[in-house]
This record gives sequence, C-alpha cells and structure tokens, in this order.
Amino acid sequence: MRRFEAEAIILQGIDYGESDRIVTFFTREFGKIRGIAKGAKRSRRRFPNGLDLAYHLYITFVEKEGFELGRVEDSKMIHSFDRISQHPDRFMTACYLLELTSLSIPDREPHPELFDLLKSSFQELERGDWVPEARDFFELKTLFYCGYRPNFEWCGVCQSSLLPTGDRYYSRDKGLVLCEGCSIDLPWVTRLSPETTHVMQRGLETTLDGLKELLFNEKIKEESRRFLGHALSLRLTRPIRSQPLLDAFRR
Ligand SMILES: [Zn+2]
Repeated sequence: MRRFEAEAIILQGIDYGESDRIVTFFTREFGKIRGIAKGAKRSRRRFPNGLDLAYHLYITFVEKEGFELGRVEDSKMIHSFDRISQHPDRFMTACYLLELTSLSIPDREPHPELFDLLKSSFQELERGDWVPEARDFFELKTLFYCGYRPNFEWCGVCQSSLLPTGDRYYSRDKGLVLCEGCSIDLPWVTRLSPETTHVMQRGLETTLDGLKELLFNEKIKEESRRFLGHALSLRLTRPIRSQPLLDAFRR
C-alpha cells in the first residue's frame, strides 16, 4: 500500500452510489490518477463542495498494488476557480482544456509543465485575461509537452530544410509538414504561410504571458487552427466532446 500527498487539479468527476465520487486528478508529481472519494457528497470537511471540476487542491491518496482505482482520503482546497463558471464562454473553454488534457496524457505519467500550463490557463480565465489565441497556444504546448513537437524546420518526407521565408504544406494524410515538391499529388494538404510558421515557432518557445506579444491576423488564426486541430486529433484516442460546443459559441 502506498500513501502520498499531491498537488492536483480535478479533470473529471462522476457520482458513484449515494455518497461517493470517482474522480480523475491531474497531479503535478504523478500525472493522471483515478480514485474513489468515499463519502465525498457528505463530508464537506474532507472534500470541499464534493470535489467538483477544475478544483485545485492538495489530496491525500492511497493506492494498493493490483488495484486500478485508488482511494482519496482527504483534500485541502487551494483554489476552486468557481468564478469561471459565471461566464459561459470561459466555462466552455475550461471544460475543453480539462478534456483535452485528460485525453492527451496516459495514466501515471508526470507532466509538470503541462500541469503548470493548465493552472496558469485557469488563472487567466478567471481574471478574464484569456485571449482566443491562447487555445491554439495551449494545444501547441500540449503537443510539445507530450513529445509531439511539430517540426517546421525540414520536410518530413525528403528531409530538405525549409526556408523561414517559404510556405510549408501540412499533409493530413501523413501528419507531417512537407516541402512543396513532396506535397504535390497528395490529398488533404493545408498550406502554412511563413507568418503562421513563425508565430507557432515563437509560441513553442514562449509562455502564456509572452503570447500577448505575438501578432495574430485572421490568416494566421485560420491556418494554425486547421493545422493544430488535425495534428492533435492524430494523438487523441477519441474526438474532444466539448469542442463542437466551444467552436459554435465562438462563431
Ligand atoms: Zn520534401
């Protein structure tokens, strides 16, 4: 039996039986873990507000060898991010970020940088500082932190280096960025202009705060949206359910 404490954000929670809840946590130290919180709907002392979505807390967790589901013994609230739910657009963005994070990482694989990004994203959403481009930034960084950094430097087929001033071609078929020559005759090719590539390359190096120094025009937004949407879909086990709702709201 192992007992540990961890800083965590709640990714998912479902009621179980009369008073329990099964909760998926994203912990900074241990990655994604699932556990049952016995009496979560009754004990306000151990489980503030019954362990709701996006709560940021310290948890005490117990796991037994051979059991997939651990047990949450206790929790202490750090911050609830309750105010986000007062604004429908921010709330939908929050649901999207939680679901995307949950789908992007396997169980028990630590991703402290992604944890910090999720936390600072929620802080920006709560303050009302979140800009629409931050969603693209979050997706780009998620790919990066999970080991799928997009390569804009050389062609994914012939390996020739791609000029900073030249167009790139993303093949949805191959899931690769290509030179023009290698993209001819391929179906489902999306163009990436040098401006879009530049912004995404800078995005890989900057922070959520630094994002505000990057300039996005409509073309960059559209090209990066198409590219990231597809690049992410290749890495996820299923489509993101909260995405159509978020997209419809933003239209
Ligand atoms: Zn090529």
